[in-house]
Amino acid sequence: MTTTVPTAVFLDRLARARASMRASGVDALLVSVGSDLPYLTGYEAMPLERLTMLVVPRDGDATLVIPRLEAPRVVEQPGAFTMRPWDETDDPVAIVADLVARPAVAAVGDTMWARFLVDLLGHWPSSSTRFVRSTTVMNALRMCKDAAEIAALQAAGAAADRVAAQLHAGEIALVGRTEAEVSADIGARLIAEGHDVVNFAIVAAGENAASPHHHAGGHVIRDGELVLCDFGGTMDGYCSDITRCVSLGAPPAEVADAYAVLHEAQAAGVAAGVVGAACHEVDRAARRIITDAGFGQYFIHRTGHGIGMEAHEDPYMVEGNTLPIAPGHAFSVEPGIYVAGRWGMRLEDIVVATVDGPLPMNVADHALVTLG
Ligand code: ZN
Ligand code: ZN
Ligand code: ZN
Repeated sequence: MTTTVPTAVFLDRLARARASMRASGVDALLVSVGSDLPYLTGYEAMPLERLTMLVVPRDGDATLVIPRLEAPRVVEQPGAFTMRPWDETDDPVAIVADLVARPAVAAVGDTMWARFLVDLLGHWPSSSTRFVRSTTVMNALRMCKDAAEIAALQAAGAAADRVAAQLHAGEIALVGRTEAEVSADIGARLIAEGHDVVNFAIVAAGENAASPHHHAGGHVIRDGELVLCDFGGTMDGYCSDITRCVSLGAPPAEVADAYAVLHEAQAAGVAAGVVGAACHEVDRAARRIITDAGFGQYFIHRTGHGIGMEAHEDPYMVEGNTLPIAPGHAFSVEPGIYVAGRWGMRLEDIVVATVDGPLPMNVADHALVTLG
């Protein structure tokens, strides 16, 4: 929830949404469950069959159409939107349709329930209204994090860093426990450090680490293994995501050498995240170092993903994405080297692009820390 955010922030976001609607020729923006709703209003709707929808006409006032029983949960933002509670016997789609005179172009949220769109088509037939995805309006806004969002990402990143520090300090027991037990421990620590929700806690030891999204399971962690931990959650509406590896005992030279390459590649990827550079330059910078060291075939995924209210969102740091990095873009830089059947490693930070250069949200030790 983002209820601690001042009303002025929502007024600003709505003003930018309207500017984006004007630029893209959208007459009405309809936002139901999903991240766009709390982004614009501070209210996070439960994914219910009862309709909750923010209706934003390009030139008129915004209205939050909401089941009357949910209305008490809304923190009103004076000037941003008015509430239009509906009763159990009302037709909420008709209420929505009445708020905007048959728009020529309506933008609907990606995660709006199909039933609402189908019912809306009864009021606004596709012969007179063209429906487009709300990403055409919202994506540019959502990608460029404002000051309140960067502060939230920073707080979430700092909380994840504290758990990483506990891992590095040997406070999270590893040897003799299953990956699943360590995963649960990391999750509990994310909550203890202030997260509201744990989104994932990947723990992969030994050859399991060669599978990037390995599901923490019954494998009992042993001395001599490299353990990859990739974890994150949501705190005040914004996500954290960090990966660190530890070596149980001194790593073999091959692993230590590969890690040195990984570390250099990750730092190069972060450094490439400058305003104006194409997103894929972040991927290229990291990949070049790994490839030049002879590990190119073992780096089997893109270098990063955007992050914000969602753990994965635009922009993606992947070959072919020529979108220029803009101030406020928040993304992961997470190269990895995975040798199937043997070992795997990844190093990940969240970074926000600023006019002064890339600003890391994670500063936990980047070294391959040796434990035991
Ligand atoms: Zn991650
Ligand atoms: Zn990630
Ligand atoms: Zn480093």
